[in-house]
Amino acid sequence: MKNRIYIFDTTLRDGEQSPGASMDENAKVQMALQLDRMGVDIIEAGFPIASQQEFEGVIRVAKIVQNSHVAGLARALNKDIERAAAALQHAKKPVLHTFLATSDIHLEYKLKMSRDQVIDTVGKAVSLAKSLLPRVEFSAEDATRSDRDFLAQVVETAIGAGADVINLPDTVGYTTPDEIREMFRYVIAQAKGAEDVIFSTHNHNDLGLAVANALAAIQGGARQVECTVNGIGERAGNTSLEEVVMAMNTRQDQFPYECGIVTTEIVPSSNLLSMITGLIVPFNKPIVGRNAFAHESGIHQHGMLANAKTYEIMTPASVGHKRTDLVLGKHSGRAGLAKRSSELGFELNEEEVGRLYERFIELADKKKEVYSDDLRMLIVAMYSKAFEVYQLEKLRTFGEDPTVAMVKLKHGDEVITETALGDGPVDAACVAIEKIVGHTGKLEQFNLRAATPGKDAFGEAHVTVRFENKVYRGNGASTDIVEAAIHAYLNAMNKHIAFLQSQEINGDS
Ligand SMILES: [Zn+2]
Repeated sequence: MKNRIYIFDTTLRDGEQSPGASMDENAKVQMALQLDRMGVDIIEAGFPIASQQEFEGVIRVAKIVQNSHVAGLARALNKDIERAAAALQHAKKPVLHTFLATSDIHLEYKLKMSRDQVIDTVGKAVSLAKSLLPRVEFSAEDATRSDRDFLAQVVETAIGAGADVINLPDTVGYTTPDEIREMFRYVIAQAKGAEDVIFSTHNHNDLGLAVANALAAIQGGARQVECTVNGIGERAGNTSLEEVVMAMNTRQDQFPYECGIVTTEIVPSSNLLSMITGLIVPFNKPIVGRNAFAHESGIHQHGMLANAKTYEIMTPASVGHKRTDLVLGKHSGRAGLAKRSSELGFELNEEEVGRLYERFIELADKKKEVYSDDLRMLIVAMYSKAFEVYQLEKLRTFGEDPTVAMVKLKHGDEVITETALGDGPVDAACVAIEKIVGHTGKLEQFNLRAATPGKDAFGEAHVTVRFENKVYRGNGASTDIVEAAIHAYLNAMNKHIAFLQSQEINGDS
């Protein structure tokens, strides 16, 4: 029992705080379903007090998740805790996660509170949380830079007030493996009641030590690891779920613990996340990167042919690379399409299956064989469309130097057409879009890649666009790369417009 490690996934909360990684509600729901399928113990769905949209997003995730616990974050303030509890009451297994900083530097400059005030606030916040929901986690923000004895005192207070889980985060990514192992040992030994709660570790990767620190924390007594898919998160990111899980799996001799992750769902989770956020996984990223299992040197290839174990410490299949990819053809019916979508992690209602089917037939006409990745692109594109303020109806480009683009956009029931000149088709089409919507963005990053195999592959475009002082990521996919780029640009533009509209509604908060 004590050797069970709980996986607390915070992709939808901490991960979503990655610059530019914001996900809309539909994307969050799809990601939550995939996390549930992968077997994470807890899904942190968001920070309900942050905005109305965030509050509703947490409710939707809470309602749909079947197996995992669903957590929501709250500062140690009554209004935050009440708001989080209101969102989480829809979950089968809710967890209220409240936090307060414990390091002197945070007390003095950020909170302007004395140590006694912190103790008092933690006791009250945890008691309130516990009166509203059955399971409460308390995090001592910046724990690794806190005075150990004071930290133990705060932890004891939280346990006394009813906390079930105590998290000691390395908020700024500062600690080292030996230091964090000792911190957990010390606090667990000092704080009264420590044996009755689960200790949790939450690490940031500023020095590239997040995974190493998480593993060391486990050796120090932590039994819950907070992490994110692909390691996304604030700044340099968080502990990578896939790395920490596969390190434990591969080195059972060093880490004789169990966790409930279905490892073959790791790569599908990574793909889905990168598709919906536009944060592309580096080729050399452990476990999930395209090259993570590629053997290039002749000597390695020779060894691999003789026996894969010569150079392979885990198999690509064990983490879900190259899963048997049954091809769909024109004759696969709606039921087959719905079944395959659900295997890919998407739960679609009848109306959505109908819409998907139309797009699927269109694609199957262009492309004889439709792979799982093609299908995933279609679904993601369909989902993001549901949220689009402006939708691309038609795009035509002519000539070079300059290029003329004709763009037709749909806005509610209105269809608006514009033409513009530019340096090349993408530039010209962006200018035409800007004429229609009346906002101008600055394209800061532009990546194109083939998302599916073959010459008739789907091109996937990811862009970063700056509007005034805010930056948005946009994604688009199409068998035509210019069209993919324009979908991506329009997607970022729509996010900006949606943001401006939400500001108008919540202008007074
Ligand atoms: Zn964090």
